[in-house]
Amino acid sequence: MSPRPDLGPKPRLGYTQSPIDRAAELRPDDAAMARLAAQPGAGAYVIGGDWIVMKKGAPLNEPLFAFDEARSLGAAGETVFLGLLGGVARFGHGLAPAAAEALKSNERYLVTDLRSIAVQGLVEAEHLPLIAEAKAVLHWHLRHRFCPNCGAPTRPVSAGWKRDCPQCDTEHFPRTDPVAIMLAVTGEQCLLGRSPRFLPTMWSCLAGFIEPGEAIEDAVRRETREEAGITCGRVVYFQSQPWPFPSSLMIGCHAAALTRDIVVDRAELEDARWFSKGEVESMLMRRHPQGLTTPPPVAIAHHLIRAWLEDEIRFD
Ligand SMILES: [Zn+2]
Repeated sequence: MSPRPDLGPKPRLGYTQSPIDRAAELRPDDAAMARLAAQPGAGAYVIGGDWIVMKKGAPLNEPLFAFDEARSLGAAGETVFLGLLGGVARFGHGLAPAAAEALKSNERYLVTDLRSIAVQGLVEAEHLPLIAEAKAVLHWHLRHRFCPNCGAPTRPVSAGWKRDCPQCDTEHFPRTDPVAIMLAVTGEQCLLGRSPRFLPTMWSCLAGFIEPGEAIEDAVRRETREEAGITCGRVVYFQSQPWPFPSSLMIGCHAAALTRDIVVDRAELEDARWFSKGEVESMLMRRHPQGLTTPPPVAIAHHLIRAWLEDEIRFD
């Protein structure tokens, strides 16, 4: 057994530890919403599809806008009440994606995607879970303009947390899609794979959507078997992470691998193989001789791998 490595202080997992009080009881109260929006200090995150609009700053940018300022930026979409922070309201303000794109040429603003903001640390880390919340709900609005039951146009209510169908009276709520992400381990080795979409040097945990009627543990075993041909036994839940691309919840698990012979599903993965603790440590600490890496701390895969390296999880 290799000695427990010293990996330094644990970094923060992206989009988690939200400081907000969602104050869901206020959502149906239109008068309260109007009052909160007019309060001094109330602010909105401005999001146009995949684009986040920020006021340029150094070293960090400012993603919060006063309401009037947000409205002056271009054609607006829906608004969603995110909750209260220190008694002051935060909102997500939807901008037409084309209006957000048009702001890219304005030197007062920085317009970029949320992944870049998180990985490069372009705003205070406290903003990330709030931007993630706003982005996921605003994306849902963009995709649910019509009732899936009868086809009539739906209308937003409850401060952006519901859409009603005036034709058939069906209520529609924002959805979250669960994804199982897992690190299969056996003795002193773990299984990592490469998607063709990854940077050429990156290896990560396997992952896949949980299907209707499927338990998390069964999804972990199915995905590992389908993508890498590995059979897993015991599955242990580790941690979860909102993943607003567009609206997933990553459910991180460790799994005890019962077999060793890998059969890669080339339709899903470019490659998959076993890695030793020593090699994974060098990847995590960015000192692998061939430059191989694991995902950055913003992603739950980083934390799943690190917890195994630090012996937080053992199956023997
Ligand atoms: Zn309907």
